[in-house]
Amino acid sequence: MRCPFCNTNDTKVIDSRLVSEGHQVRRRRECVNCHERFTTFETAELVMPKVIKSNGSREPFNEDKMRAGMARALEKRPVSVEAIEQSVNHIKSQLRATGEREVQAKLIGQLVMEALKKLDKVAYIRFASVYRAFGDIREFGEEIARLEKP
Ligand SMILES: [Zn+2]
Repeated sequence: MRCPFCNTNDTKVIDSRLVSEGHQVRRRRECVNCHERFTTFETAELVMPKVIKSNGSREPFNEDKMRAGMARALEKRPVSVEAIEQSVNHIKSQLRATGEREVQAKLIGQLVMEALKKLDKVAYIRFASVYRAFGDIREFGEEIARLEKP
């Protein structure tokens, strides 16, 4: 792996550990030439189902897009990057577990909502208010009331 600082081809791994419940390997590397250190993450690439959009068109599952949507909802919330990565991995396993070659975009939205509900109630409300486009303020209030119940 090339050093991102000096472009030398020779870097060595100085530490390696499992993260995201074992779904990722995190490696600390050091450049043999300039001695800068950097981190790489290794994740298995598995086939994800295609996404059927509401207009019927198909597109490849886009993990970055999903993560960005979650990150927007979680902006300035006390949730760690690690916890978000775990949720992303969990959603991906759920999608693969459907065994379908294609899934509705709606299903991904629902899985993201469920994940956010567990991570952070405020983020969940933010996401749900955009995603579900609550019909009126009462419906929104009812959802918040439901959340406040134990
Ligand atoms: Zn270097």
